[in-house]
Amino acid sequence: MAHEVTLIPGDGTGPELIEATRRVLEATGVELQWDRQEAGEDVYEAEGNPFPDRTLESLRRTKVGIKGPTTTPVGSGFRSVNVLLRKELDLYACIRPCKAYEGVRTRFPETDIVIVRENTEDLYAGIEYEEGTEDNARLRAFLAELGANVREDSGISIKPISIFGSERIVEHAFQYAKANDRRKVTAVHKANIMKFSDGLFLRTAREVAERHPDVEFEDRIVDNLCNQLVSRPGEYDVIVLPNPYGDIVSDLGAGMIGGLGLAPGGNIGTQAAVFEATHGSAPKYKGLNKVNPTALMLSGALMLRHLDEREAGDRVEAAIAEVIRKGERVTYDLKESRDDPSAVGTSEFADAVIEELS
Ligand code: NAD
Repeated sequence: MAHEVTLIPGDGTGPELIEATRRVLEATGVELQWDRQEAGEDVYEAEGNPFPDRTLESLRRTKVGIKGPTTTPVGSGFRSVNVLLRKELDLYACIRPCKAYEGVRTRFPETDIVIVRENTEDLYAGIEYEEGTEDNARLRAFLAELGANVREDSGISIKPISIFGSERIVEHAFQYAKANDRRKVTAVHKANIMKFSDGLFLRTAREVAERHPDVEFEDRIVDNLCNQLVSRPGEYDVIVLPNPYGDIVSDLGAGMIGGLGLAPGGNIGTQAAVFEATHGSAPKYKGLNKVNPTALMLSGALMLRHLDEREAGDRVEAAIAEVIRKGERVTYDLKESRDDPSAVGTSEFADAVIEELS
């Protein structure tokens, strides 16, 4: 039976990246039925809404989507489509594998980690009180009653971390480790300083780990983790982190494997799963058939595995790895020099991957 998948091209370079990815996924022979839906800047300009209800309804129905990047205007305009998606579909786990493929220039060739980031809580929960407002003053007065004096000219962001949120993200990390033959889970925190938020995360992680004695478990303080990742990346495997640390360490991981063009992602929730690259819409390259589709294609491989098409997902990853290893038909960012005239375009990179698949 065909898998129905919501296909969201997004904006900027999104449509060309999605097209390249769609062709590769279809070349696996897995039957995929696409429900193409819009999100982002282009549909905002046409309809005044960057995230139409029909797109959300499609995702609720198919329960799985693949999405090109979408632009978020800075300061004004519309809210981030990704934040809306995360909230509406409770996409609580962000999975970001970072693997250094042979043929990519990196000082960290042994990197093969999977970052599991909590997506809904902590400092990114959006509970903020602007400096100079009445709510800010009321909150500071309340805190003063509790003996905590906050300077009058402070902006305040709240950092909620729950047992519920910590338990489900750490459990997800262990389930991912088991399903993907990973040997170890590392929980990351700053519990030495933030005893009641990060401390709760760590305590809960330890409790969850006890349920999974077949997977090794350890914890690291976040600053120490960053230091160790760049000195001994081979020692790390699945890494589970609260929201902001996960955000930052994801980009560190992307840098370690050779750049944003290579870093895939999946946002998994209780109602649906949406797969997309770590990078943004790279608007300056829009329509140029130039940027690297690897990150979105690898996100597609994650999607196939999520759909229980593991063998097809593994084949897509192996085909991409082979094209990169050969280093001939790759995009500009994977060449020794960025203006190497032998670099191919987005679409030709897809052709090379499809040839490897067949
Ligand atoms: P970006 O990731 O779009 O691009 C930054 C730079 O990284 C590009 O100029 C390019 O040099 C490089 N790059 C990115 N993707 C690449 C690829 N596939 N191949 C080769 N090189 C690549 O980051 P930005 O410029 O900060 O953001 C642009 C827009 O994208 C913003 O509006 C931002 O909000 C949005 N964004 C969206 C998502 C998403 O939809 N998931 C994620 C991040 C940023």
